[in-house]
Amino acid sequence: MYKLDALPFDNAFSRLPETFFARVHPTPLAAPYPISINRAAADLIELDPAELTRPDFADYFSGAKPLPGAEPLAMLYAGHQFGRFVPQLGDGRAILLGQVRNSRGESWDLQLKGSGQTPFSRNGDGRAVLRSTIREYLCAEAMHGLRIPTTRSLCMIGGDEEVYREQIETGAMLLRMAPSHVRFGSFEVFYHRNQYAPLKQLADHVIAEHYPALIDTDQPYQGFLREVVRRTARLMAQWQLVGFAHGVMNTDNMSVLGLTLDYGPFGFLDAYDPEFVCNHSDYQGRYKFDAQPNIGLWNLSCFAQAILPLLHPDDGEAAAEVARDALAEYEPELVSAYSSGMRAKLGLTTALDGDQALSAGLLDAMHRSQADYTNTFRALSRFKSGNDDRNDAVRDLFIDRAAFDAWALRYAARLRTEQSDDSQRRARMDQVNPKFVLRNWLAQRAIEQAQQKDFSEVDRLLRILHSPFDEHPEHADCAAEPPDWALRLSVSCSS
Ligand code: AMP
Ligand code: MG
Repeated sequence: MYKLDALPFDNAFSRLPETFFARVHPTPLAAPYPISINRAAADLIELDPAELTRPDFADYFSGAKPLPGAEPLAMLYAGHQFGRFVPQLGDGRAILLGQVRNSRGESWDLQLKGSGQTPFSRNGDGRAVLRSTIREYLCAEAMHGLRIPTTRSLCMIGGDEEVYREQIETGAMLLRMAPSHVRFGSFEVFYHRNQYAPLKQLADHVIAEHYPALIDTDQPYQGFLREVVRRTARLMAQWQLVGFAHGVMNTDNMSVLGLTLDYGPFGFLDAYDPEFVCNHSDYQGRYKFDAQPNIGLWNLSCFAQAILPLLHPDDGEAAAEVARDALAEYEPELVSAYSSGMRAKLGLTTALDGDQALSAGLLDAMHRSQADYTNTFRALSRFKSGNDDRNDAVRDLFIDRAAFDAWALRYAARLRTEQSDDSQRRARMDQVNPKFVLRNWLAQRAIEQAQQKDFSEVDRLLRILHSPFDEHPEHADCAAEPPDWALRLSVSCSS
């Protein structure tokens, strides 16, 4: 167990040449205080639990006190934003403090978001508001609870500094962690500058640190691309299965490790709507819910293009062929992950041809009835498959009862083909159909209380969302559909 001032830093990224980043220190937040500290993430870097209550804890994660051994820097990247290439972005309000290597040999980036201006801030103030910081802090941990790859949240530090957005808000900082924050855009920046040496150096770095099994293969870059393709495909399947809309799937927000990265105006589906657009600044609906799998592939094509020079250094046509072959693995991987995930959500243990039509039928009935996505699947765990059984709890979630009844007959018949046992199936389904997701209205309630300096709701949600498949009967209010006041909640890009 380590003390805060003796963390075992091993800053591999900072040992790369300065082409990849700008060295910069956080701009401290005045009079910082901890808002929430996540013990589960602290354990990942083997931070002594006694350190979490140190009076100067907030100083270390708000830029006031440097962490000994840290070598702070802002990473350079580019990206396709809403389809348009932006040649230079970079960490405009986040600083990689350093990388800690734990006793299991895992490396964790400690990145401080909202930490002030960097050379990549363009016109931004380098700050993050409390509202968006709470949303990211909680959602990353919620995704982890849902077993979806994601960055993690160590702590959130508040300060009373005013930050100007559509309104005056207060600033906050998030310490987030990931094995790496390298993005598709980290490669795109060098491809578009025709700088192939750093392109290769970055790929070698990522492979050495995160895909070591590829080092001694014949085609490490091809293997790297294929692995990114497959991980992204599986990630998209997981988002779709849980009803998560990211909101800003620009290539600068896509992780080369297949992690959910950069939580902005995300949203979980309440009523099932495949056209759901969670980001109110996304006027075209480019990133609407059911577009995500295609956008994942589009983004991968940008990534593949960026590493073309590595795939076949002196034969463009051969390189393109390798890239096409790798990208061709996307759809089968996605379909396989989605269909096996959907079968698990329905409690099926065998695979039959009609299963896709069965799940599509359910989604269609949910859409027409505006049934709540999370609660419908959770209620379906209690579905009784006998001929004379009534299934009122789930049936009542549908406005169009006849549509549900028709579907329920098909489902019951399907369950009987595999002699499904209702109680065993329920136990299985409760392990894959969460009771709790970070609904917008839940985040909003926690934000409003936090703005009044009451952080208890943030901590309560953190605890529940860490085990979203458990019943938590005392927190049943957090499984409710949005109350009336929340129906008009709008989430903008501003953060
Ligand atoms: P995002 O949409 O939050 O992923 O951000 C896109 C780009 O804008 C990234 O390069 C961010 O670092 C930068 N950015 C966003 N907000 C700010 C801000 N308040 N100050 C400086 N840079 C920002
Ligand atoms: Mg971003």
